[in-house]
Amino acid sequence: MKITFHGAARTVTGSQHLIEVNGSSLLLDCGLYQGSRRESYERNRQFRFNPRQLDAVILSHAHIDHSGNLPNLVKNGYQGPIYTTPATAHLSRIMLLDSAHIQEADAEFINRKRAARQEEPVEPLYTVPDAEQAGEYLQDIPYQQSFEPVPGVVAHLVDAGHILGSASVALDIDDHGQKICLWFSGDIGRRGLPLIRDPILPDRPDYMIMESTYGDKVHRDPQRAFEELRDLVTRTVKRGGKVIIPAFAVGRTQEIVYALHQMMVSGDIPPIPIVVDSPLAINVTEVFNDFPECFDDETWAFIRSGKHREVFGFDHLIYTRSADESKALNDRRDPMVIISASGMAEVGRILHHLKNNIEDPKNTVLIVSWQAPDTLGRRIADREPEVKIFGEMYQVRAEVATIGGLSAHAGQNMLVEYAQVAQGNLQQIFLVHGEPKPAEILRGRMAETGISRVAYPDLHSSVEI
Ligand SMILES: [Zn+2]
Ligand SMILES: [Zn+2]
Repeated sequence: MKITFHGAARTVTGSQHLIEVNGSSLLLDCGLYQGSRRESYERNRQFRFNPRQLDAVILSHAHIDHSGNLPNLVKNGYQGPIYTTPATAHLSRIMLLDSAHIQEADAEFINRKRAARQEEPVEPLYTVPDAEQAGEYLQDIPYQQSFEPVPGVVAHLVDAGHILGSASVALDIDDHGQKICLWFSGDIGRRGLPLIRDPILPDRPDYMIMESTYGDKVHRDPQRAFEELRDLVTRTVKRGGKVIIPAFAVGRTQEIVYALHQMMVSGDIPPIPIVVDSPLAINVTEVFNDFPECFDDETWAFIRSGKHREVFGFDHLIYTRSADESKALNDRRDPMVIISASGMAEVGRILHHLKNNIEDPKNTVLIVSWQAPDTLGRRIADREPEVKIFGEMYQVRAEVATIGGLSAHAGQNMLVEYAQVAQGNLQQIFLVHGEPKPAEILRGRMAETGISRVAYPDLHSSVEI
């Protein structure tokens, strides 16, 4: 059996791991690499294997850095099943279409510039029909149900506690009589996150491919993070400003809405408008309402407590779908919270809100998730004094706040615990989905607790087992 790390190797985004066994090949995730435009396009365009010869794909969750290159895989000839949980399948169909629109718009933007220089146009990475086709290959596999993606491999998905529908993948492999249990963590969630259930820990595998995003950080308790959120909203309202939050349409948006709702119910924050300005987030929120079986006990208790039947619908919550409604927000002077995509502020409506609000010290820009290098979100989080938006420079005069404790990723302690629980038969851990510094720090912490066989594979490198 051979594992090749085709993405999220020595970096966070672009999750893609190829398993070759018994003459079959199986791909774990097919995510987009996210970074500067040119580098991303080149990295994402070409696969280092032939998609036509791939037999099956298993998708851990709907985030674009795990799912976003599936339409390109299909465009390049893949016609097999893409196994994932029902909630992820549902979310991915929405997310991939949205991503295809972005790819098309991006190519158009580049081609206008190229045409002016009499250069050949570039093709979009993929188009809406490619995304629709990929959506048709998605196959629902409920948590804990065994299935055989390729001959000799029995798989099951367990709750990774990261976002709605997220899974870790357990593979029981029979490689010509040699039995190997391989565990792919996907993105590991945290205990005590709102809405979703806690992650399930690995079940003594022989080998483990494991994420390491926050290998260098001990997260604050989610409760502390919500107190910070409360204080920050209160402070900004007192100044008469707006809180602008770039957030991924899946996960963070719903968690923040839910948390602000609870704070408003308990009187912890004043009753101000909470605006979700992202058609994608609205569609995704509807999916949350469709999969209440994924909610944790606490959320159920809140729903059952009486008048809050709709978790994501309450008086002060405004969803803006049309561009006109979104633009109208610019003219409003009253304090409010605006949550908009994309989460790293590279594209989407959030750019307009940042452009209109970042120069006013009354306002707050709140960063709530990991930001890839070379994105606007990272520049703001790094407190750069001026940033470029739509080709123009803007002074960052708004308060900039980062609340790390809201992350949907496990922090260092949980990652170490995850690796400890996996001990027993474990031959090797392969750290992926992490930048070099966090991964190295995590490896050091693991070594201190007696976990020694930890590799940090290079991009496109292979291991034979
Ligand atoms: Zn994720
Ligand atoms: Zn990820």
